[in-house]
Parts: sequence; C-alpha cells; structure tokens
Amino acid sequence: MKIEGACHCGTITYQAVVDPDKVAICHCNDCQTLSGSAFRTVVPATKAAFTLRTGEPKIYVKTAESGAKRAQAFCPECGTPIYSAAVGDAPVFFIRVGTARQRARLRPKSQIWCRSALDWVMDLGSVARSARQESLAPQGKPIE
Ligand SMILES: [Zn+2]
Ligand SMILES: [Zn+2]
Repeated sequence: MKIEGACHCGTITYQAVVDPDKVAICHCNDCQTLSGSAFRTVVPATKAAFTLRTGEPKIYVKTAESGAKRAQAFCPECGTPIYSAAVGDAPVFFIRVGTARQRARLRPKSQIWCRSALDWVMDLGSVARSARQESLAPQGKPIE
C-alpha cells in the first residue's frame, strides 16, 4: 500500500510503500516518552520503499536498556516524530503512523511491550467521549 506523510508544519514530507498487515503498537517506556503519548503506532518500510521528499529530519540516537542504539528522526521545526531506524545505513524505517495521510486505513495488527502498557489504554471504551473538545477540556481551554 502506498502512503504519503508529512510532519505537522509540512517541512518533512515522505512517501512509502508499506504492508498494512505489519502495523503495530508499541507500549514500551521509550515510545511513551518519545511520542509524548500513551503508546506509539508504527509501520515498517524497507529502505527501497521509503523516500524522503522534502526536508531533513533531525536525528536523536537513543540507547536502550540493552545498549542497542536507535536513530529517532523528527522534524527540527515542529518536533513531529517521523520514523526510527538503525543507526547508519538503515535497511528498514519504522514510520510513525500518525504522520501518514492514509493512517485511518492502517489499523494495528499487533501490540508489543504490553508489560509496560498503561493499564487504562486497554479500556479506552470506558472513557467519556466528545466529538470535539468543548465539554471535556479543562475550563474550556484547548488541550491538544
Ligand atoms: Zn515539521
Ligand atoms: Zn517502543
């Protein structure tokens, strides 16, 4: 499946070919911190199937507990995470699904690192819902 993506400010744009059956959620602590959210959703694209069209992401190399290093690419202007990859000549790019225009069609098929998942994540159906933010935002102030 062909996808196109961009960061929030539009500096970074890319296109890729991905397998929708490989979309996964990662609940690890690093993904929680680096995404600024409860979990991260990714889809892999091989080097040959990933093309950076505009912009040059900034790279942050994180070191895991295991000592393994991973390059985390993000927009230097708006901070949107774009992908992670091996340090150096990476064979695979793990694209951050939220940056893809076609993200609604990229449903996760698996979840990893569930031992560090936030327990409420598995039960979002019980959380109060609003079509927009009016009724739920504290003092009516924007929360996004
Ligand atoms: Zn940006
Ligand atoms: Zn993770």
